[in-house]
Parts: sequence; C-alpha cells; structure tokens
Amino acid sequence: MARYFYVYVARYSRNNLEIGRSLGVWGWRSDALSLHSKPDPRSSRDVARSMAVGDFFILASGGSPGPRTPQEKFVAGTLSEIIITRISKPLYRSDRRVWPDDVYPERVGLTVVDSVGPVNGQRLGVEAMQALQRSGNTRGVPVAAEPVALESLILTEEEPSEDPLDLDGDLDALVEVRRRREQRRLRHRKFGLREQITCDLCGRSMPVRLVAAAHIKRRAEASRDERLTLENIMAACLLGCDALFEHGYIHVDSAGVIRASQRAHGNADEATRSLTGRRCTAFSARSRPFFEYHAARHGHPWTDAAGHTDYAWLTDAWTLIRDAEDAGRAP
Ligand SMILES: [Zn+2]
Repeated sequence: MARYFYVYVARYSRNNLEIGRSLGVWGWRSDALSLHSKPDPRSSRDVARSMAVGDFFILASGGSPGPRTPQEKFVAGTLSEIIITRISKPLYRSDRRVWPDDVYPERVGLTVVDSVGPVNGQRLGVEAMQALQRSGNTRGVPVAAEPVALESLILTEEEPSEDPLDLDGDLDALVEVRRRREQRRLRHRKFGLREQITCDLCGRSMPVRLVAAAHIKRRAEASRDERLTLENIMAACLLGCDALFEHGYIHVDSAGVIRASQRAHGNADEATRSLTGRRCTAFSARSRPFFEYHAARHGHPWTDAAGHTDYAWLTDAWTLIRDAEDAGRAP
C-alpha cells in the first residue's frame, strides 16, 4: 500500500520547484532533515528514509495564506499548484549541483504523475493541509499523513458536463483520460475548424488528423500554465516530425532554424536531414523559451544572444542523470 508524504514549497523557491519537476528530483539541506515536525516523534530524516519506491510524494506551492497563519485559515486557503509525484528513488545523497541557490544534498527521485491547481484547501482535505502547513513551517521537510483522494482532485479539474468516465480507480488511466481531454481542447484552440494544417517543422500541408498539437516543452515537465498556453504548442505532423522532435533527434536553434541533435540511424537519418536548415514556423519571441528548454533538454543549450535563460544546467544535469542510469547507480 503506497503511503503519502507532503512537502510545502515556499513561493521564493518556485524556480527550484520547476527544476525539480523537470529533472525528477527533490532535495533538502542536511540540517533541515534533523528537525522534527511535531507531533511526529521521528526526525524528518527518519521520515525521509521511510519513503519507498511507489509512495506518493505531494508537492504543493504558493497560494494564500502562507503556512504561518493560524491553522484554520491555512486549511481554508488556496494553493497555487499541487504536483502529484511518486518516489522513483529512495533517499540518497548527492553533492552534484542541481539548484542554483544551494546544494540540497539529501535527495529523492520522483516521477511526476500530474499537476493540478489552483486548489482550494477543502478539496485537499484537512489532514493533507495540516501536513503541508507543518512542512511549510519546518523548512519544507517531508511530512507523512493520510492519503488524499487523488481521483477527485484530478477529476474536478474537468467540467462535469463532459463525457462520463468509466474508471476502475487506476490512477494512470485517469491521468491518461485527462491528458487526452486536454489534448482535444488544445487542438481545438490551436487548429479551430480547419481541415488542412501546415506542419510547423516540415512545412507540408495535410489533413488535420495527421497533425498533432504537440508540446514544445514536454507536458510532464511543464507547469500547468505552460501546459495550457498555446505558445508551448506547435503543429507537428505524424509523418515523422512529431516523433523526431519529441525524441530529440531535431531541435530548434536560437534563430528559429531546425538542427539535427543526434545521429538517427538508418532511414530516420534522411528524415532528420530533410528538416535541418528549415525555419520552424512556430518559433516566435513567446515560444522561444520553450524551444530553448527543449534544445537544452536534448543536449544543445543555446550559447548565443544575450538575454536568454541559462539552461546549461539542464543539459549538465540530464547528462549526469543519464550517465548514472546507464551505469546503474544513483546520480
Ligand atoms: Zn512535418
């Protein structure tokens, strides 16, 4: 039976939360884990040590009021976002730099299930809100508490009038249903009623059913706002472009030109080469950060032009994580 752990992330740590979400890792300072979050008699390190693969790890951020308000006010308040994750790697130590402001060497690996928000405290339940408040008042340590009804948390994001769900309580199936609905709405917003769509990568025009409304920054790594903004969506045809971009065989450079990222073997190489040098028609000042993220994610941080976000850390971190996974050890 999976257990539930709650972590409150302060507003000023929002950037760290985005990094953690992207890389699937969360961490604490060692001295923070020596603290107790009353009334749990265990140290926070013991709580962190008790987390096992598959346990739910709920990260909640921002909202109002903050955790230092009286309990009844906090419980009735609103959280900006809740990221539902599961532990993929139990507590381990690493001094490798992941976050810009501190090392946070006591870490866990995470798999993001979904994110929702803003969420009213009443929907999350008193137990979970109390756990989050204790975490928020104890430097963000993990706090164990009762399960929260994730199904209703995820489902109430949807309009109740939509087609009824036939679910067996399987959370993955639920998330998949939600993803498909989201995709349907994004397609509608992006493509409208058009029947012919031009692919933003290869420039070919084709029936709308052969074109995906594809996320530039991957859905699982994007915040809720990033997931739903059309600036993060491009038309990518299913005749190759969507898959080549998603798997990082191609990326878009800082001038909006398509580049090959890695050698695609066999005939996939021809497909990649036929795209390189083309201008990506989804590239704009507003989609730029998403393309930059995607490029860095696949090992090609932009190095030109002033004023762009520095995503070099992302490339470094991904390389290290991949190397460690290849070698079968913790990063
Ligand atoms: Zn295409």
